[in-house]
Amino acid sequence: MKLRSLTLHRLRMPLVSPFTTSFGTEEDKYVLLLEGSFETDRGRITGWGECVAMELPLYSAEYVDGAAEVIERWLAPTLFAADDLTAETVGELLEPVVGHPMAKAAVEMAVLDAQLRAAGVSFARYLGVTRTAVPSGVSVGIQSSVDTLLEVVGGYIDEGYARIKLKIEPGTDIAPVEAVRREFGDDLLLQVDANAAYSLSDAPLLRRLDEFGLLLIEQPLAESDLRQHAELAEQLSTPICLDESITSAQVAADAIALGAASVINIKPGRVGGYLEARRIHDLARANGVAVWCGGMLETGIGRAANAALAGLPGFTLPGDISGSKRFYDLDITAETVMSDGEVAIPEGPGFGVEVDPQILSRFSVGEHTVTG
Ligand SMILES: [Mg+2]
Repeated sequence: MKLRSLTLHRLRMPLVSPFTTSFGTEEDKYVLLLEGSFETDRGRITGWGECVAMELPLYSAEYVDGAAEVIERWLAPTLFAADDLTAETVGELLEPVVGHPMAKAAVEMAVLDAQLRAAGVSFARYLGVTRTAVPSGVSVGIQSSVDTLLEVVGGYIDEGYARIKLKIEPGTDIAPVEAVRREFGDDLLLQVDANAAYSLSDAPLLRRLDEFGLLLIEQPLAESDLRQHAELAEQLSTPICLDESITSAQVAADAIALGAASVINIKPGRVGGYLEARRIHDLARANGVAVWCGGMLETGIGRAANAALAGLPGFTLPGDISGSKRFYDLDITAETVMSDGEVAIPEGPGFGVEVDPQILSRFSVGEHTVTG
């Protein structure tokens, strides 16, 4: 394949409700989508990619406008220069550019989507996935009160979500978890995500979570604190899951070897793409470490790709792949529907979803095309 043009779409998509984590509150989602036009054996084919960077550099160093700059100025020219572009070679081609995994992942997605469309193969089939649906969990942001939290969680349980994840931060941790466990019982699959908000000296406090039978506690300490996560793991019975820390298969190998993680949240954007995500899955599975697929408030494109990835056999815990309605009243692709606690894996070529041009233009706040 040969990349002929790359359009960067910036959108502002209203969220159903504000989403609060220990990093801050998002009222709407500032989205960067890539639309690549590729020359293939089967003529011109379009491939779509989604960048999961957030508007502000708070979850990670990357942010939407920064990622767009890196893609346009540094990544795209390399891809335009490649004569036989494949998804499998994108990572190597872009390796000289240090960092920027979310920008690189978005570019790789566009190439992968086009390549699979040209071949008439779904992403799930490309991965060797045999499942047709994956369990659907929901991530619940920090709420203004415990009563509101119980109401929100009850709503998701009524909808049929298979697992509940509560965002926590210092001061909003033990009480909400205790209240949810008491209200909804011991059978509820429940886990918490601290988004790096604690330090090792909080171990006595975090140990109080052990009595609530959580599936895991996600990223309690800072991104670079692998050793301290390993020390914390010795003090807690709740399994420690790493999210922000796992930036590559290499870091995942170190985390597993150190005993810093007994579970890994795989986010393809955070690790530089779906192919690296697959390598982390394989590594974790070989080491008996469970993985699940996290979410970054993706539109229908990223959500579809995540559903296929989560069909791999090592994804033994429910992920954050919820229905579109969890975040968006109107998505840019056909709505992802959660039914009976599951989301179907798309079967069409590529990521198996089509972008609606009218909805795209409705949410558009900027569009820019670069050519080789
Ligand atoms: Mg997380």
